[in-house]
Amino acid sequence: MSKREFQTEVSQLLQLIIHSLYSHPEIFLRELISNSSDALDKLRHLTLTDDVYKALPFDPRIDLELDEEGKTLTISDTGIGMNEEDLVSHLGTIARSGTKNFLSQLSGDAKKDSNLIGQFGVGFYSAFMVADKIEVVSRKAGEELAWRWISDGKTGFEITPAERLVAGTTVLLHFNEEGAQYANSYRLQEVVKKYSNHIAFPIFLTYDKSEWNEEEKKSDKKRTTEQVNAASALWRRPKSELKDEDYKELYKSVSGDWEDPLFWFHTKAEGSLDYTTLFYIPAKAPLDLYQAEYKVGVKLYVKRVFILDDSKDLLPQYLRFVRGIIDSEDLPLNVSREILQQNRVLTSIRTASVKKILSELKNIAANQPEKYETFIAEYNRPLKEGLHNDYANRETLLDLIRVKSTKVEGLTSLAEVKSRMKEDQKSIYYITSGAESLLRTSPLLEIYKKKDLEVLILDDDIDEIVFSGVDKYGEIDLKAVNKASTSEDLKDEAEPDQAEALKPLLDKLKATLGDRVKDVRASVRLADSPSCIVSDEEEPSLKMQQMLRAMGQ
Ligand code: ADP
Ligand code: MG
Repeated sequence: MSKREFQTEVSQLLQLIIHSLYSHPEIFLRELISNSSDALDKLRHLTLTDDVYKALPFDPRIDLELDEEGKTLTISDTGIGMNEEDLVSHLGTIARSGTKNFLSQLSGDAKKDSNLIGQFGVGFYSAFMVADKIEVVSRKAGEELAWRWISDGKTGFEITPAERLVAGTTVLLHFNEEGAQYANSYRLQEVVKKYSNHIAFPIFLTYDKSEWNEEEKKSDKKRTTEQVNAASALWRRPKSELKDEDYKELYKSVSGDWEDPLFWFHTKAEGSLDYTTLFYIPAKAPLDLYQAEYKVGVKLYVKRVFILDDSKDLLPQYLRFVRGIIDSEDLPLNVSREILQQNRVLTSIRTASVKKILSELKNIAANQPEKYETFIAEYNRPLKEGLHNDYANRETLLDLIRVKSTKVEGLTSLAEVKSRMKEDQKSIYYITSGAESLLRTSPLLEIYKKKDLEVLILDDDIDEIVFSGVDKYGEIDLKAVNKASTSEDLKDEAEPDQAEALKPLLDKLKATLGDRVKDVRASVRLADSPSCIVSDEEEPSLKMQQMLRAMGQ
């Protein structure tokens, strides 16, 4: 028997883990199951690629065995296993560079340090949050001997020879007071389903199940083994293996929607970053789409392990109607919400995901126009919000949105508007701020009608704010007709003499209106009406002024 001490960093790390994660100790199970899953992945890889291992039996599974009364839980796998050396180096020292790095950044300030921990994996040691003693019995694949590693997580560990029938690892937890709540089959099933439902291998739970005995009118305990997880991270399978039905089924389980989705985009990225995304567009816009406290529809996984589903940082807000999954290979399991916001890996995934979603939508618009119409009926408005917030993708978004116009019934795209422009037309014109009927009959449009120029009717209440920030579609200027300066397209009508002749009238009007107006000018933009009100080119328009005032600016 050999008694050994932990590397000093290990004790330090243990303290920190216990301190910073005490509020959700349940993650110990996620960590141990993910270790088993890693060990199974490793062995599977060897049996496929290495002749020495090809002959070995491989029956991949993870078994949880619960002793409710004894307050113990074992987590066993048939994975790669560890020999004596492995046990010392993997469970007794901080071999992982990430963790070392982490420890070198520690400041000693408990609060600051516990925020830091979200950047790194916590792994095996998290089990000491719930256990005052842990025994690991492991046998490495291809070796005869097995070893037992025992530790209280404080003083160090012991390693002794042991026995194990097949290769793999068994972790036995003696629950402490904190952990006692997990000596309960319902609680365990709940935690496994929450974090480990899509681990690729089956997870079985063996426990004493209560069954009602009708004859003796009492419930009996019966030792039972049941599979707890779904064991299929469908999004990890190649597209070619998946049927529409598979996608739809997964959609319903991740979204809680009972209708089929409109479309989905499944992407596997390999290279500098490895990740899989599967995004769905619901057939009907989520009911909370326009509520500040909308529910996030995208779940984050790391290596098939569920991490969180309530981070508003996974996709930009205007894409909040998207449902689905992001599964990264490069993030630590323990990544925290705060860290996510500035995490380089996630930022890249997010940027690529937005591009992907928008370009897929563009494809659909081009190739399945009818389907795109149903999409637009639900999501035109959030896309317009994107025009306001997502500068990098503005050009694509301008192609995706649809608008009303004086030249068509229903909706039209800016590309179509462009194609209808007159040969010498310089700008695309639009009118905002008001109900559709009001805008369509506005005197401001008279001159455009007369000149047969198309004007976009932007009657959505956010249009004014959104389009005030968009001054070009490609090379073409976008101009509001209610802004003061007339455009080149209207200029040929200008008659300076007329303005001269009107001067006495303008002066009189200015004197009468006083401070209520900035200026009174002669205009060429009216054909039939005698006058109209416009706002200054540089100044925010009327409604914007009201909105800005309401926002306290
Ligand atoms: P990580 O999983 O991030 O490497 P952990 O603290 O969870 O960190 O585990 C440390 C190491 O211990 C693992 O990298 C692995 O080599 C080894 N290990 C842990 N659990 C198992 C297991 N069930 N089977 C084989 N090796 C394991
Ligand atoms: Mg781990």
